[in-house]
Amino acid sequence: MRYLSGDEEKKALEYIAKATEVAQNATCERSKCGSVIVQLDEIIGSGFNSPPQDLEDQRRCSYSKDSYHKKVTDKTCCVHAEQRAIMDALRRNPNKLSGSRLYFIRLNDNGTPSRSGEPYCTICSKMALDVGIAEFVLWHDQGVCVYDTKEYNALSFQYGLNGENSTVPSVGRLADSPHNSD
Ligand SMILES: [Zn+2]
Ligand SMILES: [Zn+2]
Repeated sequence: MRYLSGDEEKKALEYIAKATEVAQNATCERSKCGSVIVQLDEIIGSGFNSPPQDLEDQRRCSYSKDSYHKKVTDKTCCVHAEQRAIMDALRRNPNKLSGSRLYFIRLNDNGTPSRSGEPYCTICSKMALDVGIAEFVLWHDQGVCVYDTKEYNALSFQYGLNGENSTVPSVGRLADSPHNSD
């Protein structure tokens, strides 16, 4: 991981602003998120979080995660913004995904972008890695941070296990990561 500065940071903040616009469409009742995927200065996919197909009868935002059996693999309520952006890019620009960069933002209750904590969503980290997205961008308190997607996936599975700043992948330590709402 590395923190951006100068023109690189400025450009990244423009894409975070785009992701913020996309997030305004989110209908999840837990949190509103947005994501854009960029290849060579072009947005090749975007997404926000909401129930599958935006079907109200599939909405699970108010359900407690403790109400599901432990075998239920994904206890989050909505389709994640990053999942949507990846599926959008697969539909519209499948040949441009390899080597691309994904930006993610979560909104505060007042609709402004919020700073992210450490990565933990193993659903999205696996999916991003599998389709060949090269980098994953989060906006932390310390600034705009770029992760190699392999590193991002490893860190997501390590969430809560190691020190906050650990970047050492630990193979085979697959803990249940806390599933916050996405
Ligand atoms: Zn939801
Ligand atoms: Zn996710």
